[in-house]
Amino acid sequence: MLPHEPVLRLGIFLGVLLALLALEQLIPWRRARPLGRRRWPANLGLAVLGALLVRAVMPAAAVGAALWAEARGWGLLPALGMPGWVAIPLSVILLDLLIYWQHRVTHAVPLLWRLHRVHHADPELDATSGLRFHPVEILLSMALKMVAVVALGAPAVAVLVFEVLLNATAMFNHAAISLPPGLERALRLVLVTPEMHRTHHSEARAETDSCYGFCLSWWDRLFGSYRAAPAAGEGVVIGVAGWRAPEQQRLDRLLLQPMRGGAGPAEAAVPPLVPPLAAGRPVLSAAPPQPGADRSMA
Ligand SMILES: [Zn+2]
Repeated sequence: MLPHEPVLRLGIFLGVLLALLALEQLIPWRRARPLGRRRWPANLGLAVLGALLVRAVMPAAAVGAALWAEARGWGLLPALGMPGWVAIPLSVILLDLLIYWQHRVTHAVPLLWRLHRVHHADPELDATSGLRFHPVEILLSMALKMVAVVALGAPAVAVLVFEVLLNATAMFNHAAISLPPGLERALRLVLVTPEMHRTHHSEARAETDSCYGFCLSWWDRLFGSYRAAPAAGEGVVIGVAGWRAPEQQRLDRLLLQPMRGGAGPAEAAVPPLVPPLAAGRPVLSAAPPQPGADRSMA
C-alpha cells in the first residue's frame, strides 16, 4: 500500500472530487451559487500551496513520522502490545478525535481563528471548500499530527488511511448536495454530512461554534457541540460577514487575510466602537451582519 502512496492519494482525491462535482449537478443544494467556479482557482490554489509548504518544511509528513516511530518501536500503542488489527482502526479514530479538538481550538484562540477564518470566509459551499485552508494552518495541523502520530505509535498504514479518509470526507461534507432524507439520517449516525457541516459554516456565531467534526460525527455528540441543522434551515447565511465579496476570494487576498481584521471570538462580545469602514476594514457583506456574529468586525 505505502509504495503506491502518491498514486493512491491523488487517484482517490480526484475520483472523490469529480464524483462530488457531478453530484452537485444531479442533486444540488442551492442551485444558484453566484460565484460558483470563480472560487475554484483560489480554493484549489490554497490546497496546492499548503501541500507545497508542507513538502518544503516537513517532507516526511505524518506517514514519514509514523515510519520513523515504527522503526524504533516508539509510542503508546506498541508499548501496550496492541496488535495491528486493533492499532490501525484505533489510530484512525484517535487521529480524527485529535482533528476535532484541533478544530475547536482554532475557533477559540484568536490568532488561530484568523488563519481558520480563511476557510470560513468562503461565501458559498461546494466540494472545493473542503480544500480551502490557509497554508500556515495546514502546516500547523501537520506538525500537531506528526507529534500525535509519534506519541501514539500509530501504524503508517493507519496514518495514510486517515489522511485519505479525512480529505475525502472534508470534500464530501462541504459539497453542495442534498441527500435523500433517509440516507442523510443514516449517514450522520457515523459521518459528518453536508447538512450537518453547513451548520458550522453559518454566519451566526453560535452555529459557527458547533459541529466541529470533519469525518466522524460522534465527537460533536459526545462533547456537546452537536446541532442537527442551522436554525434558518435552507436560508442559512454562509460565510463570515465582511469577507464575502468576490474580490476577497482571490488567492492573494486569502493568503493575506489573516493579517487583516478582527482577531477572534474573545473580541466578539465587545460591540465595535467605531463604524467598521472608519476602522479601515472591509464592509462587503452581501447580507446584513448579525449582532455578535461577526468576529472580523469585533
Ligand atoms: Zn471551523
